[in-house]
Amino acid sequence: MRMSDHAVKVEPDHTTASSGDKDNVVVTEELVLDTSPAASLSPPVPSCVPSAAGVQGSATPLASKDKARSRSKMGRDDRSTEGKVNTDIGYAISTHVGKHLNRLRGEKVLQIKCAGRVMQGKQETNGNSTHQRPRDRHEPGNKHQRKKKPVTVDTSKAKTSLEALKMSIKQLKWKEFPLGRRAACDIYWHGTSFHDNDHIVSGQVNKFPGMIEMLKKINLSRALRTMHELFPEEYNFYPRSWILPDEYQQFSAQIRGLKDSDAAAHRTFIVKPDSGSQGEGIYLIREASEVRLAAGSQARQAVVQEYVQRPLLIDKLKFDIRLYVLVKALEPLQIYIAKEGLTRFCTEPYQEPNQKNLSHVFMHLTNYSLNVQSDNFVHSDSQSTGSKRTFSSVLYRLASKGVDIKKVWSDVISLVIKTVIALVPELKVHYQADIPPGKPGPTCFQILGFDILLTKNLKPVLLEVNSNPSMRIEHEQEVAPGVFEYVSSPVDEDVKVCVIRDTLRLMDPGLNKHGHPPPAGGGGAAQQGTVITTKAGPPDKAPEEEPGDGLPTLCLKQVYPKYTKQFQYLCLVDRIATLFLRFLGIKGNMRLGPTAFRTFIRCCKLSNSNLPMASVDILYIDITRRWAASTQDSREAGMGLQAFVEAFFQLAGRRSKAALLRDQVASLLEVCEAHLDGPLSALPVAAAVSLEDRRSLSRGRAMAREASKLSPSSSSSSSTTHPPPLCSPAAPRRAVSHDQRLQRSRHGPLRTNLEN
Ligand code: ADP
Repeated sequence: MRMSDHAVKVEPDHTTASSGDKDNVVVTEELVLDTSPAASLSPPVPSCVPSAAGVQGSATPLASKDKARSRSKMGRDDRSTEGKVNTDIGYAISTHVGKHLNRLRGEKVLQIKCAGRVMQGKQETNGNSTHQRPRDRHEPGNKHQRKKKPVTVDTSKAKTSLEALKMSIKQLKWKEFPLGRRAACDIYWHGTSFHDNDHIVSGQVNKFPGMIEMLKKINLSRALRTMHELFPEEYNFYPRSWILPDEYQQFSAQIRGLKDSDAAAHRTFIVKPDSGSQGEGIYLIREASEVRLAAGSQARQAVVQEYVQRPLLIDKLKFDIRLYVLVKALEPLQIYIAKEGLTRFCTEPYQEPNQKNLSHVFMHLTNYSLNVQSDNFVHSDSQSTGSKRTFSSVLYRLASKGVDIKKVWSDVISLVIKTVIALVPELKVHYQADIPPGKPGPTCFQILGFDILLTKNLKPVLLEVNSNPSMRIEHEQEVAPGVFEYVSSPVDEDVKVCVIRDTLRLMDPGLNKHGHPPPAGGGGAAQQGTVITTKAGPPDKAPEEEPGDGLPTLCLKQVYPKYTKQFQYLCLVDRIATLFLRFLGIKGNMRLGPTAFRTFIRCCKLSNSNLPMASVDILYIDITRRWAASTQDSREAGMGLQAFVEAFFQLAGRRSKAALLRDQVASLLEVCEAHLDGPLSALPVAAAVSLEDRRSLSRGRAMAREASKLSPSSSSSSSTTHPPPLCSPAAPRRAVSHDQRLQRSRHGPLRTNLEN
């Protein structure tokens, strides 16, 4: 896929545009699409039903937190307009939101008209990478089926998603175990992390190990930066970011450089704490000196990022999009996108940043949790009004002004797929460490919350990905002066219940067990000894195209493997991760020891007169040390995947004369894969590594002694079958055990599913 630029003039319909939108209706858009996936993606397209006018925002000063409880009546008139938005590609949703008012919780029935075919539950054809035991499951839709055994769901750890989950289970007629169950359940719904319940040995859990860590701002930035190095054009949807405090000097130099080249340009940057959520700790700056760096060990890790100064506005207000994305399996990768999402609006009219407004939270940050505290916040009673609306209602609004919303949707889908592709390699390492192949364990799936901003030119920009997007369907409201109650939020309910219910439908073990044979190692880890090809899956018919159980057409649309062909070439890091996993060889470990690294070099025949083993050792030590210093979690010694990828890039650069990094890397991968496709590939990883280790044991020891002279601080491999550690003082810092690591991830700072 190549992206090409071509300008498209979007002609607005000024008759329907509110005056406040005038700045945003005439857009000359830099479209980036030709043979790209976008061309063939099938986004939902709103059609034809007039929508209500939106929020009429008025400026509000910052620091109105103390007025948080008072609610403006602004926009109430809009409530009478039902936000009927049809979305095509075989389905149409017409949600009569007015009926949501005053309905009792638990008695709600989603009113969804399906233009698509009725589901009749043929088995899923996409291949499911689960390895669960065969169960006595029904074939939905088969009239002669045996009596159904309901799917069992353990909801005891569901936390704030409980309400929506209960409704979903009820709609599916499945069986809920709110207090857990002694016998195994089919599905475990965790509110926070994979480790919410550590005693699961079968079934499916709605969280991947490592997802929380991977989606912290620094790790996400790193993963996307690596992909940007390889594919600068394809990965241009994430604002340029620097990691603080490590990259403060580079950031500072960059700002100076920009000023030197254009003194008039006033760029703004946004600083976000690494583990922050709900806008907490975020601030805008225009000078590097404004970064609030605490000293020494107090230095708070953060990301400083280019601020998108010209977002698309509706009714003069900045807004962002929350899209729900289901990662159904890692191997082969399966991604679904919810056809409906949410948009969250600021509550103070937007102005481009200037020295005076930099601290105006309600103008610059779209977080629900912040804006709900503004007097101008309007709880939405319909899908197309208020401070939280459906994405389709916004798309409809844009379409009415002539915006090519199919293009917007396809760019969004493309962004989502590329982001998941960037995350998958590291997730596979976590998965293999937590659920080693061959050991009993559950398989995993996860709903992610993508936060996306549209620029004035309609280009989607990724802000962040939430591992625990809020699934709350109620909000606190003042029902009488000083009296607060949780009341149902129709917009949240419409969107979130569908997402949960249809995620469950896709994870129905009755469907999945008849899917394609699971790869060893379950839903996530790369199968040992196998080079992953991302040419995923069977000639697929997405489940949403399958007939079903009389339930509405799925609100989740499969985008991968559906669009594998267009994106497969991006999976270079994934292939590097496969090599990495292969040489890890130690169950429960996530870092490569020096011996394993040398074994990798040897097996792939990368060492030669230009790259003697001594240089390999130095490369290992050099990179490992640097990463240990820059990552917070350096307790586990050795070379992590990101460091391995860096080493791989360096090795690729040494060997290849190709101009582009991606070509260098692709060529080195081919070399490695060709060598590993030999007899060694038949062996399981650990066996292969230890066989190789035994062969090179004596040589390795000698080299270890040599290398330990070079670096006293490097690490060791923790395998008992491995030669002694390369660098001796590492013994006390041996790779932490699996259990220790688990404990860390259990007790470490976790981001809970707070409303953003
Ligand atoms: P948090 O996890 O604390 O919500 P986010 O990364 O989502 O952090 O940022 C919070 C809000 O700040 C976003 O919802 C968005 O409105 C705004 N924001 C974040 N990054 C940018 C950016 N690069 N440019 C413009 N606005 C941004």
